[in-house]
Amino acid sequence: MFDITLTQLLVQSTAALAAAGQASARLEAEVLIAFVFKKPRSYLYAYPEVVVSDMHCQQVNALIDERVAGRPIAYLVQERDFWSLPLYVNEQVLIPRPETECMVEAVLQLSLPDDCVAVDLGSGSGAIVMALAVERPAWVCLASDRFAEPLQVVKKNIDDLLGAQAPDNGMPARLPMLLQAEWLSACAEACFDLVISNPPYIEDADPYLDRGDLRFEPRSALASGADGLGDIRCIAKQARRSLKLGGYLALEHGYAQQQQVVGIVEGAGFEVKELGRDLAGLPRYVVAQSHS
Ligand code: GLN
Repeated sequence: MFDITLTQLLVQSTAALAAAGQASARLEAEVLIAFVFKKPRSYLYAYPEVVVSDMHCQQVNALIDERVAGRPIAYLVQERDFWSLPLYVNEQVLIPRPETECMVEAVLQLSLPDDCVAVDLGSGSGAIVMALAVERPAWVCLASDRFAEPLQVVKKNIDDLLGAQAPDNGMPARLPMLLQAEWLSACAEACFDLVISNPPYIEDADPYLDRGDLRFEPRSALASGADGLGDIRCIAKQARRSLKLGGYLALEHGYAQQQQVVGIVEGAGFEVKELGRDLAGLPRYVVAQSHS
């Protein structure tokens, strides 16, 4: 028997994370303990004197050990909020990031038809496509990924959304469809109003890939060739063909890549409409329109 209270477990877990250099040790300890107890974090403060069972104690300690080893919190609790949605995530998909929400917000401001046909390329967990489907229930939204595993994650997120929502409450009239394909190679000419993507864009040799949370994320979702722009070049070229005239292309990119991405999309026959920044004020996405 460990015979410790919830508060003692919290203090001990926080100390272990802090000793490992985690900046938000207290918050992370709360999140992991609440996850094991299947309760909101407020439970830890409402019932500080509860004696923790050995089983719960062991489960918490195992998660703390994994976090100390660097595994991202989102993978440990298999969840990350994006937009208004709690999304299921696992190690087959990139952890959704707030900078991508900025691009979603920009796209929702565009003048797009009510029956817009949109595709999210390299959808990963489905963060972008799920946000679009919830915000624009009448759109036809497609999640496309090269690999089957991320599409299973999207499928689970769609099922979870269906389970969570009352039928008349913010439920997309059409659920996102899934397509396993390399970018737009399987798509016809002029069939989309919107192509949106958070593609891999980090340089293959960037040492940042071997630090922090990124070590645990799928390399195929992060890195794209020597200059990080290989996939963006490919998407821009294919999007010109698969977008209707007047359709939009929205691409996330690295903070130092905006000028190059502008060159790539202009070279592919687009007119740049917006140079977007993320919440840190860094250049983060480009919105461009296909013209005749
Ligand atoms: N924005 C991510 C990062 O820099 C990279 C994601 C991506 O390559 N699409 O951590």
